[in-house]
Amino acid sequence: MTDRYLELANANLTKTILDGLGLPTPVRLKREDESNPHQLSGHVLLGSSEGASFTQAIYSILQATSVTMTEAGGDDSVSLVFDASGISSADQSSQLYEFFSQQLSSLARCGRVIVIGHRPEALADTAHATLQRGLVGFVKSVAKEIGRKGATANLLYVDKGGKTAIEAPLRFLLSAGSTFMNAQVLNAAKPVIKIKGDWTRPLTGKSIVVTGAARGIGLAISQVLARDGATVIGVDVPQAKADLNSAMASINGLSLPLDITSAGAAETLVRFCQDHSSELHSIIHNAGITRDKMLSRMTSVQWDLLMQVNLGAAQRINDAFLATELLDNGGKIIGVASISGIAGNVGQTNYGFSKSAVIGMVDSLAKPCAKRGITINAVAPGFIETQMTAAIPFATRQMGRRLSSLSQGGLPIDVAEVIGFFVSPQAAGINGNTVRVCGQSLLGA
Ligand code: NAD
Repeated sequence: MTDRYLELANANLTKTILDGLGLPTPVRLKREDESNPHQLSGHVLLGSSEGASFTQAIYSILQATSVTMTEAGGDDSVSLVFDASGISSADQSSQLYEFFSQQLSSLARCGRVIVIGHRPEALADTAHATLQRGLVGFVKSVAKEIGRKGATANLLYVDKGGKTAIEAPLRFLLSAGSTFMNAQVLNAAKPVIKIKGDWTRPLTGKSIVVTGAARGIGLAISQVLARDGATVIGVDVPQAKADLNSAMASINGLSLPLDITSAGAAETLVRFCQDHSSELHSIIHNAGITRDKMLSRMTSVQWDLLMQVNLGAAQRINDAFLATELLDNGGKIIGVASISGIAGNVGQTNYGFSKSAVIGMVDSLAKPCAKRGITINAVAPGFIETQMTAAIPFATRQMGRRLSSLSQGGLPIDVAEVIGFFVSPQAAGINGNTVRVCGQSLLGA
């Protein structure tokens, strides 16, 4: 559905009027060039605290890309990357202040702020851990200051020994693909398996299951994964067979009409994958439904059906695949949660429970999966322009859009791009993360 307000805010005459009235004027966000995705461009200014651990590695990574490294930002021209991993005292925090207070005005429209630190829980030094935790509040506050420019700020925590894991998240955060991921913390750890892959078509030769692939976010995920080289095995309910078939035909994918809550569905899916490929690279648990009602009026059918689609089916599918070796040594599992599972929402006790449990699934499976060279991560979308959100009443829909620091809703492709990053072979050091794709929505922040 078109966001008319966004269009008005980007037309010369109406933008002036909205500015004059002090109303938000959201910037049209930059997204990947579909004919040439994953290309980095623009200027990057790299700063560093004293005693920082990763600056040399970051410099070498950036040098090998097509961004231009610069020593001083001009007007509105740069993205800012700062290695804050050395900050271990209140006095040293001024290094962060000095860099950003001088350089933030140079930030490009739709530019990026990326701060890199040590994961506090992994540090033995309590003062160092305390100061590194402070980076979260700093990044979230910067994101609120720069959102009106369509720019984002994110924090990358790197575990000790995780230097080799920095490249994939750094490239992704600088790319147009991360446009609606804002004010998030990503954890990168030493990868269990060797990182290899091509940055332009990272999923070449990989088979990936996407549930709920016939429309909406699932369709966008399928298209992005196919663009990146994957063969998508699209699953959706038999009633959506026609849409599913045409969606999969358009990306050379495979179509499996299947209700994931039906008896034996997980085993059917495993057999289908075994028949079509010797290994499976990823499973994206995207299929989901809402059955909104105030708790006192919610029927047990509304509770149970939703729980089976959003949670039970995903768990049975994981169990069935993890009972085989199909995902071992490089496989990825992705959950699709929601900010309703983080913030809660009126009339969504069932949905909120299921989506919070998806985050629980990531937290509890991350360690056992890592032992087998598998990663598991989740996205938690905020307001995304789909059929689901088009059905929301007008005033609530407008509010949902403007609640984010970017003053707009995201597009299905924005969620898909984050998933594309999670499943890329180069993201082998990214495990156990749930990332909100919400433009920094105020809900639950
Ligand atoms: P959608 O309703 O447009 O698409 C969901 C797809 O899942 C449909 O094609 C549907 O047929 C399929 N599906 C439902 N039950 C199924 C079953 N039993 N077996 C197989 N397939 C089944 O929804 P969407 O907006 O694209 O949402 C996709 C995911 O993102 C969901 O998990 C949803 O909860 C989550 N999400 C969406 C938003 C949003 O703003 N749209 C926000 C947060 C989270």
